[in-house]
Amino acid sequence: MKNKVITAAAVLCATVLVAIIAFDFFMSASFSASFIAMNTTVSADIKGLKAEEAYREISEELKELDAFLLSRTSEDSQIYKLNNGKTDIDPEPAKLLSSIKDIEEKSNFSFCVGLGQLTDLWGIGTDSARLPRADEISSAIKDAEKWQISGNTVDLPDGVKLDLGAAGKGIGCDYASDILQKYKCKSAVVAVGGSVLLYSTDKDEVFTIGIRNPKGDINEPAAIIEIKACCVSTSGTYERFFEQDGKRYHHIFDPSTGYPAESGLQSVTVISSSGLVSDALSTACLVLGFEESLPLLKEFDAQAVFITDENKVMTTPDFEGLKIADSNFTLVN
Ligand code: AMP
Ligand code: MG
Repeated sequence: MKNKVITAAAVLCATVLVAIIAFDFFMSASFSASFIAMNTTVSADIKGLKAEEAYREISEELKELDAFLLSRTSEDSQIYKLNNGKTDIDPEPAKLLSSIKDIEEKSNFSFCVGLGQLTDLWGIGTDSARLPRADEISSAIKDAEKWQISGNTVDLPDGVKLDLGAAGKGIGCDYASDILQKYKCKSAVVAVGGSVLLYSTDKDEVFTIGIRNPKGDINEPAAIIEIKACCVSTSGTYERFFEQDGKRYHHIFDPSTGYPAESGLQSVTVISSSGLVSDALSTACLVLGFEESLPLLKEFDAQAVFITDENKVMTTPDFEGLKIADSNFTLVN
């Protein structure tokens, strides 16, 4: 009798062990691939039983997010329609625009999505990039901050056009995060251009991320950070620019002047639990500069790494886990 009990217990143990190993095996199933959406490459590296299904849905959703919501050129997108006279918007994008308005206000409009006319005027990143006349610039920034959202109704003053280029990739990360959760994925890295979602169900998992050398190649980090699950967005003056008479004009504008921001920074990387916040604030901080960014980052409970024009690396207070990876850069706080 005793022997039978021992045998039964042994069989049970073995079954449980096999189940654990099988569960672990399936959960560590992984899928990596990339696709084009939102004018950039989206790459995803996903672990979990349904990693491939999650990837497929992320790919579909982000393409739709662009085509039906964010794009300024697709006639089916809500932003295109608002820019061309429509005033009402679906509830979900209305919620997004309300969050964006809140970030604009808290950033003192250093982040301002009403700059569509200005980005068109400069055309940076297109074949028609040029240095506009001062009067063109002042008319393009006039009233940019004054667009309003109330419920599902958007009011754009005459001549104001929305451009969500500074927040769209972060919004994409938030969409991806919801899909990973839906498919019960274990861990993932989803990079939507300069915004990266680090996803994990393990609160102790640590990711290692490189912060690009602004004057170097994409695979040449100036610094390495080790962080837990979050969203990380970088805005850099090196991403899109043109040069004229020895001067560089980049694509991140100071909404108060209409000219490329001159805050003494080459890049800002913002870390937040929200993709929208990390993307919007990386743009805002590049306009504001180091000192002025600190209260804004604190307000959103976000952290940041700044690289100055002199290759100095600075972080928000108490930021841990940063290592300099290139001797041309110096950590100064
Ligand atoms: P990012 O790379 O996220 O900093 O976004 C840069 C893009 O956002 C530009 O290419 C413009 O389309 C738009 N943009 C430029 N300056 C601003 C600004 N101050 N606030 C909001 N959007 C901006
Ligand atoms: Mg941004």
